[in-house]
Amino acid sequence: MVIVMKLSASSEEIAAVNEELKCCGLEGHLIQGVNRFVIGAVGERRDLVAQRLEVLPGVEKVVPIMRPFKLVSREAQEAPTLVRVGDAVIGGRDIVLAAGPCAVESKEQIYEAAVRVKQAGAKILRGGAYKPRTSPYSFQGLEEEGLKALAAAGEATGLATVTEVVDLPSLDVAKAYVDMLQIGARNMQNFRLLQAAGRSGKPILLKRGLSATIEEWLMAAEYIMSEGNNQIVLCERGIRTFETATRNTLDLSAVPVVKEMSHLPLLVDPSHATGVARWVGPMARAGIAAGADGLLIEVHPEPAKALSDGPQSLTPTAFSRLAEEMKKVAESVGRSL
Ligand code: PEP
Ligand code: MN
Repeated sequence: MVIVMKLSASSEEIAAVNEELKCCGLEGHLIQGVNRFVIGAVGERRDLVAQRLEVLPGVEKVVPIMRPFKLVSREAQEAPTLVRVGDAVIGGRDIVLAAGPCAVESKEQIYEAAVRVKQAGAKILRGGAYKPRTSPYSFQGLEEEGLKALAAAGEATGLATVTEVVDLPSLDVAKAYVDMLQIGARNMQNFRLLQAAGRSGKPILLKRGLSATIEEWLMAAEYIMSEGNNQIVLCERGIRTFETATRNTLDLSAVPVVKEMSHLPLLVDPSHATGVARWVGPMARAGIAAGADGLLIEVHPEPAKALSDGPQSLTPTAFSRLAEEMKKVAESVGRSL
């Protein structure tokens, strides 16, 4: 349930509500709305205490939330959450481009990618150092050495950085180097990892699982937010269907659906969705037109030589063209880039 406080509620009255919740074995999460505080209360037996809370001073109303996800739901917070990553703000009027290679392969490669995506207008540099590969014989990533190269490229260009973490040890190492942590499709339901991400103090990019429903995806976000971290960006990267022409099927309808159900911002990743560089542009346009807050795009200085995901990676020149096109698409839906 959500406890909506009166405009005039004092900090003592808010504290009293939290105290009452604690007494009843519930946990209160304070959410600052545009002009008032609301308290999200999660735990068992919440219905029993609603009546007691409603009569406390400073409380305007108590609203039950029927959906299984609570803190990430629109009912808990009507205003969109803004996620800050370096200088970038995701979830506002501006469309944010995050771009870079699938994997960090060398200092030179990530630096070159960083310079080129920055020139094209990206705000966030991506690069994997721990790669969750289907085959154990494929390139697994440079690990800490890769993180150092990513951080150096970010610093040199002024770009914020994002990298994927695959388990608790990699999260611990990565959080010292990057501005944002990515939880990939394969780990979307790694609940211990989600909780650790919630305690990491970093913004989290949470990709949709390979076969996850929107509800399961939002429940994964709930794991992060229930640890006190609301800096979560969702990322639609395609789901598994019977179709084999594309690597995955980009579920564009998830964009308006998620926006209705949750206050969290959302990126579209047309690279992993299509798996083919020449289809990235059309789906990027569609993603922004559908209402996404930005794009996650794989860009490699030399896609033909990439150690992972070369076929879906754009050249820096192609990315630059795409970014130009996105300006027009963004404008046509009342956004800017
Ligand atoms: C990636 O971003 O490189 C990646 C592995 O993505 P996903 O988890 O969506 O497959
Ligand atoms: Mn990739």
